[in-house]
Amino acid sequence: MNFGGHLSLGRDPARVVAEAAAQGFRSMQIFASSPGAWRPPLLDSARLSAFLEARKQHGVDPVFIHAIYLINLASDDEVLVGRAMTSLIATLEAAEVIGATGVVTDIGSHGGRALWSTPMTRKPRAAAGRTDTRTLEMAISISTASLT
Ligand SMILES: [Zn+2]
Repeated sequence: MNFGGHLSLGRDPARVVAEAAAQGFRSMQIFASSPGAWRPPLLDSARLSAFLEARKQHGVDPVFIHAIYLINLASDDEVLVGRAMTSLIATLEAAEVIGATGVVTDIGSHGGRALWSTPMTRKPRAAAGRTDTRTLEMAISISTASLT
């Protein structure tokens, strides 16, 4: 069995990975940015290198990134859904950089409306002109494939 948990990498990712591995963790989930803010993932090269090296050294695999909590793909607010898609795409790009197996995201709340009335599922009008729609669908399929 592969055992792991959600960890904060903090200022010293190598130490966090080493301590987790010492406790038997062989997989982990991390945030790529503050989960309560819209800021894109910051991949500082020194911390990233330390994390990647520690992962390899301690055999921590797979790693998943949990997307920020502000994502709401079920919202009726197209601006909010657009921000959510931008954030999710940035998180997918960060996942590729760190060699993560997948991105986990909470879908969000439809606030009592039917899910099929949300901007994400109103097709094709809402999807027209959005070049990132296919990327988002890929994000969800990666996550699904990783969990099965
Ligand atoms: Zn979640």
